[in-house]
Amino acid sequence: MTLATQNIDIEQDILSVFNAQKNNAQSLANTNAKIRKDKLRKLLDWTIAHEEQIGKALFNDFKKNPAETNLGEILGVVGEIKHLLKHLNSWMKPQSVPTPMNMIGTSAHVRFEPKGVCLIISPWNYPFNLSIKPLAQAIAAGNTVMLKPSELTPNTSALLKKMLSELFEENEVAVFEGDVEVSQTLLNLPFNHIFFTGSPAIGKIVMSAAAKNLTSVTLELGGKSPCIVDETANIKKAAEKIAWGKFINNGQTCIAPDYVLVHKSIAQELISSLKSAITTMYGNEPKLSPDYCRIVNNRHFNRLNGLLKEAVENGATLEIGGQTDDSDNYIAPTILSSLTDSMKIMQEEIFGPILPILSFSTNEEAIGQIKSREKPLAMYINSNKESNIKYFMDNSSAGGTVINDCVIHYGHTEIPFGGVNNSGIGKSGGIWGFIEFSNQRAVMRQKFGTFKMIYPPYTPFVSKLIKFFVKYI
Ligand code: NAD
Repeated sequence: MTLATQNIDIEQDILSVFNAQKNNAQSLANTNAKIRKDKLRKLLDWTIAHEEQIGKALFNDFKKNPAETNLGEILGVVGEIKHLLKHLNSWMKPQSVPTPMNMIGTSAHVRFEPKGVCLIISPWNYPFNLSIKPLAQAIAAGNTVMLKPSELTPNTSALLKKMLSELFEENEVAVFEGDVEVSQTLLNLPFNHIFFTGSPAIGKIVMSAAAKNLTSVTLELGGKSPCIVDETANIKKAAEKIAWGKFINNGQTCIAPDYVLVHKSIAQELISSLKSAITTMYGNEPKLSPDYCRIVNNRHFNRLNGLLKEAVENGATLEIGGQTDDSDNYIAPTILSSLTDSMKIMQEEIFGPILPILSFSTNEEAIGQIKSREKPLAMYINSNKESNIKYFMDNSSAGGTVINDCVIHYGHTEIPFGGVNNSGIGKSGGIWGFIEFSNQRAVMRQKFGTFKMIYPPYTPFVSKLIKFFVKYI
């Protein structure tokens, strides 16, 4: 079969599944909480029963330790589904609202109806979690889903395909493996909602494609997430948390601290504590540690190696790490200091195990660094001084913030997860995900009220009445 015929086949396959889902969407919209919860339980049971296979797929994709897969991929999915199961009945209920004075005689409520046929495009860095979590939210809200996992983690994508074709008919949930062309073919279709997780650059492509059909979007993107450590912070604890948040998944975490801003009075102490924290987690030779996974592929290895080399050639100091092995996509946990804004590493999202440390003298200077860049997905503050925390919070904007820790907010089911502008549009997780995949339909019922007295003709009396309403509403 030639490439052209193969492409036509994929296009036809995608279109036929899209039409089948469109035809099925209304009956899914009318399903009750029990039916939706049964589907969520299927997802949950499969995930728990196949923990080992999920671990193997992730290990084959980028040598992720099965314990880290349990932590970063499975725990979040299980927690999310259990939360949805617990709350779905109450979230699905129409929400009554109070009646304002000018609406006397009516009643109203908000009804959550599914958006319809949804497209989920997921990235490679947490390929199981970032596919199944939004899928669970979409199912809870009553949608059909076409899922396109990343081509960079083919073992996990194949497992997702197997899982979801075992659990669902194609007219409800369907998986399309493949590269960017598959993604582009999908993006040509008039979906009712697109949930995309990936880079800001591709987020723009997704949003332009969605605009052609006025499809609503959730964009879970990335960027440079700063981590402040002020002069009052507990240095050892901050270092342990930063080293963990930065080097799990080999730094390939959207909310990993991208760079540290440390008060200059404690900079050296923080760097020493970071070095100890790295050694405690991965030993003196991280390459031999089974707990330290790898860069996902050679293209990303070369990108990161390029950032590292360029920084060092231009005067950055290598505090620890710097060893690389391109045959194994390995970069040691690396810390750099003496950086300048002109270095590429300070201009793009690093998304790998290299941590730049910048120092500041005043809080204004630290905030100036953050505000010179796009609004981040996450911003971390390590401090024990309330007035400093307040200053950093009041003078910045970010998708999410953790005070005195990092990364952990992703696992909290009661707070929204997402970015702001360049780091994302819309929110996910828990009720926020349910809302994102729902149309909040406003329903009003006329009971015994009437608005007839303000209909034309606008006699002096009617005009006066309208003026009265304007004044006293
Ligand atoms: P990516 O943007 O390169 O790819 C994401 C998905 O988009 C993949 O499935 C890919 O097939 C598809 N894609 C790639 N190019 C495309 C194109 N031209 N047209 C249509 N589709 C295309 O991202 P990635 O490398 O997989 O993931 C890394 C990025 O994702 C980082 O920026 C990271 O911060 C971000 N991220 C964000 C979150 C979050 O929740 N906010 C989570 C994980 C990763």
